[in-house]
Amino acid sequence: MIPIMTPFIGEAEAQAASAVVLSGWLSQGSEVAAFEREFAAAVGSDHACAVSNCTVALHLALLAVGVGPGDEVILASHTFIACANVVLQCGAVPVFVDIDPNTFNMKPELVAAAITERTKAIMCIHQMGMPCDMEAIMPLARAHGVAVVEDAACAIGSEIRMNGQWERIGRPIGDIACFSLHPRKLLTVGDGGMMTTSNVEYDRFARLLRQHGMSVSDSVRHNSRTVILEEYPVPGYNYRLTDVQAAIGRVQLTRLDEIVARRRRLAQTYREMLADIPGVRAPSEPEWAKTNWQSYCVRLPEGADQREVMQKMLDRGVATRRGIMCAHLERAYAHHELRLPLPESERAHRGCILLPLFHQMTEDMQEQVVSSLKAALVKQPALV
Ligand SMILES: *Cc1c(COP(=O)(O)O)cnc(C)c1O
Repeated sequence: MIPIMTPFIGEAEAQAASAVVLSGWLSQGSEVAAFEREFAAAVGSDHACAVSNCTVALHLALLAVGVGPGDEVILASHTFIACANVVLQCGAVPVFVDIDPNTFNMKPELVAAAITERTKAIMCIHQMGMPCDMEAIMPLARAHGVAVVEDAACAIGSEIRMNGQWERIGRPIGDIACFSLHPRKLLTVGDGGMMTTSNVEYDRFARLLRQHGMSVSDSVRHNSRTVILEEYPVPGYNYRLTDVQAAIGRVQLTRLDEIVARRRRLAQTYREMLADIPGVRAPSEPEWAKTNWQSYCVRLPEGADQREVMQKMLDRGVATRRGIMCAHLERAYAHHELRLPLPESERAHRGCILLPLFHQMTEDMQEQVVSSLKAALVKQPALV
């Protein structure tokens, strides 16, 4: 059985976690602080604030840039549902725009057309690790005084060319970027998230709110020789990461370059292998972006039955996933008023599948995946 993804993690992470357990301090403390410094350095950011997952990082990011009741946030529907959910959790309105079928990310022209007086933020999602077109969207946002939050859940190690210079996703280019450490992403700690920014006020805000709005953290009080009484200036959340997870994350981070390089080689091999299946379209990068290939999304031939193809591949021992979901097609958004049609989002959701791609994958496994796809696409003669 070839899984869709499996984490690249081992003895070093187990030992790091074990050391934290034996230290007696398991919750957010010095390991989290060290992980934040190392993460910030890895993505080229001034500040990184660790939280429990990317969903809550996005929630804090929207609150930090001032998104509140009645505001509008522009984003793709073609993404994990958490993106739209956090907009609702701020009391704001998600305004969905359609995607470019080549990058699976929002089309800048459509973003421009969706901006209104009530637009407070644009959520730029680097879907499946493919950078969103920041060079086109940033000037639009700045011209309208709208904040930009990058959903970099999938995009650690991805690169984008901005003003002629290549840089890693996460500096960030917008106001805040949010990363995920879920096992479906390149690096994992089980569940975890990171918020990066160059704005010290946003960073302070997130640090305060992730810990119940507490003025002085428990670890600072623990290490103090004088009594410190904490205060609660604002109502907050418990969105903390633990030191056990941070210790795992610090080891994972040292594997990043190796993981990205390996995924790029595997993607290249897929591209060559898929070239001789008629009608199947392999994903490709625009010349200004280098993805980390967090997911490998292929477009099926016109008219192919997505579910049937997936089932036939599963019967041959190959796990796949359907194309990225569309929030507006789910029951949770059944009563949400769509302002714009989303044909490319729906087409990508129904007409694509994700192929297995993970660090330990061999060329033999890739051949098995591709031959199972080829076999699944062979038209059975109709039974008369
Ligand atoms: C995985 C993912 C999230 C959610 O990340 P969690 O860490 O699981 O909360 C958000 N956005 C996108 C695009 C994702 O792929």
